[in-house]
Amino acid sequence: MKNTEPSKALGSVWIFGDYRNYFQNRVTLQLIAKGKDLAERLETEVTVLVLGDRIHQYAMEYVAHGADVVLAVDHPHLKAYQVETYTRIIAEIAAEYRPEILLGGATSFGRELFPRLAVRLETGLSSDCIALEIDPETGLLLQTSPAFGGDLLAEVITPDHRPQMATVHPGVFKERPHDSGAVGRIVYPDVEIRPDTRVELLRSRPQQGRKGGLEEASVVFAGGRGMGHAEAFAILYELAELIGGEVGATRPAVRAGWAEEERLLGQTGKSIKPKLLISAGASGALQYTAGIQNAEIIVAVNRDPNAPIFKMADLGLVGDARSIMALLLEELRKRL
Ligand SMILES: Cc1cc2nc3c(=O)[nH]c(=O)nc-3n(C[C@H](O)[C@H](O)[C@H](O)COP(=O)(O)OP(=O)(O)OC[C@H]3O[C@@H](n4cnc5c(N)ncnc54)[C@H](O)[C@@H]3O)c2cc1C
Repeated sequence: MKNTEPSKALGSVWIFGDYRNYFQNRVTLQLIAKGKDLAERLETEVTVLVLGDRIHQYAMEYVAHGADVVLAVDHPHLKAYQVETYTRIIAEIAAEYRPEILLGGATSFGRELFPRLAVRLETGLSSDCIALEIDPETGLLLQTSPAFGGDLLAEVITPDHRPQMATVHPGVFKERPHDSGAVGRIVYPDVEIRPDTRVELLRSRPQQGRKGGLEEASVVFAGGRGMGHAEAFAILYELAELIGGEVGATRPAVRAGWAEEERLLGQTGKSIKPKLLISAGASGALQYTAGIQNAEIIVAVNRDPNAPIFKMADLGLVGDARSIMALLLEELRKRL
């Protein structure tokens, strides 16, 4: 690969641009906003690295949301995401330009790509971070991520290797408003594009019948282990059906088979922003609350008055989740 730009022309805080499902998936824009803060502290700029086919429109969007530079690798071979090709190209570009920081979304995409990149670049990676700051004394990136099942928050630094890499869950940071007058530079690096994947993509199609769903529901009933058994959990489906809402679940509820994997909420599941979230029988572990923190109103039901979920709830009900949800169903049936 030939470096056509001197590295000082690029910022040293880099964000990986994931533009798939652009209107719902805002994590890149959220990271640009955070990247701006970090870059200001380091007196540098924010660069978004984006790969794909005909990506100029996304590059412009990134500039409008705060990117100072967009490094765009634009080629028809990059139309579909292929992990081997993306890993090689990003690793080559990062090795050439040597950013200080490289951030990406903790999406299924980022979770596949970033560990591979970290190995190629021989650096560390903090996954699923919930906070990022610059240490004022050392200038190092402080990467805060949940550890030991969420009981502890680990503050990680990468003192010796570069880039300092982290993935961040969608919804942790707020994107900046779109500014169509913003000015940025779009740089097209000279990269060798070759089909270096062992996977051949024959066709792709969106999942049927999943449009909207949990992410767009205005009311969500989320159940945790405290619902006790499948029959009790089924009350949540009845409630959702009655009022046109959706059902979400914690990891133990999914593991018990009460809800499908795609209903999982949290750090390794979905992030939602309903108007009303009713959380029943969930303790409020950090990995779960990461997915519900953007709900407008949270009502929590738990029999333990000290459950952490009550710290974030707008309304808390201490009691047996099964009987309270059954009572709610009964009352709603009478009224609707
Ligand atoms: C790397 C990693 C990623 C993870 N990602 C996720 C994720 O994306 N999403 C997720 O949910 N979890 C995730 N977890 C697991 C997470 O740490 C918690 O273990 C999980 O969220 C707890 O689920 P829960 O609240 O249903 O169960 P518990 O923590 O066991 O809580 C059950 C709660 O129900 C209450 N309860 C019991 N019986 C009743 C009753 N009859 N009525 C009312 N309340 C009752 C209890 O008081 C308790 O507070 C992850 C863990 C790790 C290590």
